[in-house]
Amino acid sequence: MTVKIHYQENVDSQLIRGRKVAVIGYGSQGHAHSLNLADSGVEVAVGLRPSSPSVNAAREAGLDVRTPAEAAEWADLVMMLVPDQHMSDVYRDDVAPHLQPGDALFFAHGFNIHFGEIEPPDGVDVAMVAPKGPGHLVRRTYEEGSGVPALVAVDKDASGSAMDLAISYADAIGATRAGVLETTFREETETDLFGEQVILCGGVSELVKASFETLVDAGYAPESAYFECLHELKLIVDLLYEGGLGWMRHSVSDTAEYGDFTRGPRIVTDETRAEMRRILAEVQSGQFASEWLAEHRSGATNLAEYRAQDAQHPIEEVGGRLRSLMPFMNPKSPPGESK
Ligand code: NAD
Ligand code: MG
Repeated sequence: MTVKIHYQENVDSQLIRGRKVAVIGYGSQGHAHSLNLADSGVEVAVGLRPSSPSVNAAREAGLDVRTPAEAAEWADLVMMLVPDQHMSDVYRDDVAPHLQPGDALFFAHGFNIHFGEIEPPDGVDVAMVAPKGPGHLVRRTYEEGSGVPALVAVDKDASGSAMDLAISYADAIGATRAGVLETTFREETETDLFGEQVILCGGVSELVKASFETLVDAGYAPESAYFECLHELKLIVDLLYEGGLGWMRHSVSDTAEYGDFTRGPRIVTDETRAEMRRILAEVQSGQFASEWLAEHRSGATNLAEYRAQDAQHPIEEVGGRLRSLMPFMNPKSPPGESK
């Protein structure tokens, strides 16, 4: 199966300029989309609750800030950029009452449409523009004259031009400078959830903790274990990003490469692969989505507990200390922690 990829040259960049775009939310994606759209000459309003801590930031950035309902009423294209678990409430209360035939409803992730949490009315285009990177990168690369690649998909093509509109939106946030890939809501949603669970977040976090614990339990200094099992991961990931597995293996020593080929398969075993397939099945069946939404609706107490537990992990203590000695790496910490 070949994928259609769109670049700047072949895009109707004017289509989005004929629209009034409401960006609901001003977090990671919301700030990047609204600022890039505005800088591309698109009419934008940001929809935020009056109590939102982001109101001032958005106003200071020169954006037109309204309540989510006012923004949705004013707009003829609404981009939903609030957290996925809050999205169906925001949609029901603030957006749905203002959707009219001819309007478009956009998403940056297929979750709520694919799992049926949001059911838009007939006559409305339903499409996705999902940058394959965090918002700060979407904004920074745009300012630098490049962009982050994005996925586009159409769930409902009421106008007959929903895909062109999505590509035009992607163009205005800078994504066609890097490449815009056509996909479906199902493929984006299921691969995204699988990826974050099995490798990007879940798989990597557990490998980092387990390898750190193995070294520390064997009597090695936590500082050495931190550098080996967490810090150096970035160097390897950068090589993978630049040139795939081959480039990474070309760049590391032959000793590292031999260890990679002979020991890697002992870490990711047939049992691990079987578990990956079970996790994929839970994503596909909607079991994961139901579990996560039930967790959210019951106050997300387990999530808070998981966060608190891992904040206590020794790798976080030693890491916080070591990073503070390396100010050049511009260390960060999650809200609520001083590290
Ligand atoms: P975020 O948590 O960074 O930001 C959410 C924003 O929504 C904040 O401004 C918050 O104040 C606002 N908000 C929260 N609850 C609200 C409510 N009830 N009413 C109105 N506003 C509310 O979220 P994000 O990471 O930017 O995610 C937005 C969407 O983009 C999601 O669908 C997500 O899956 C998708 N996405 C995120 C990334 C990423 O890297 N962060 C990448 C691609 C797609
Ligand atoms: Mg993702």
